[in-house]
Amino acid sequence: MKKICVNEEQCIGCGACVAIDSEHFDFNDNGLSSVINNENQDSQNLQSAIESCPTGAISICDGCDCCSDCSNDENCSCGCEDCDCK
Ligand code: SF4
Repeated sequence: MKKICVNEEQCIGCGACVAIDSEHFDFNDNGLSSVINNENQDSQNLQSAIESCPTGAISICDGCDCCSDCSNDENCSCGCEDCDCK
C-alpha cells in the first residue's frame, strides 16, 4: 500500500506541511511532522505540502503499513513490532 512518509532525519519542524495540509500532518511530541492519515492521497493540499517542504522530507512511498510513524527506510525509528524496516 502506498503511504505518506516523513523522513524524521530530514524534517526540521518548520510546520509548512501542517499549515498547508492538516488533513494529513500534525506535529509529534518531538515537534516534527507526523503523518496522521493516509487517506485521500490525491488531494491538492498534500501535493502542495510535498512541494513546499524545504528539506524534501515528505514522499509517497511503499509502506510496510505497520503504523503511521513508519518512514519505510533504513532511518525508520517507529519501533513498531510489526515494522519491516529493520
Ligand atoms: S514541511 Fe517538511 S520540514 Fe517542515 S514540518 Fe513538514 S516535513 Fe518537516
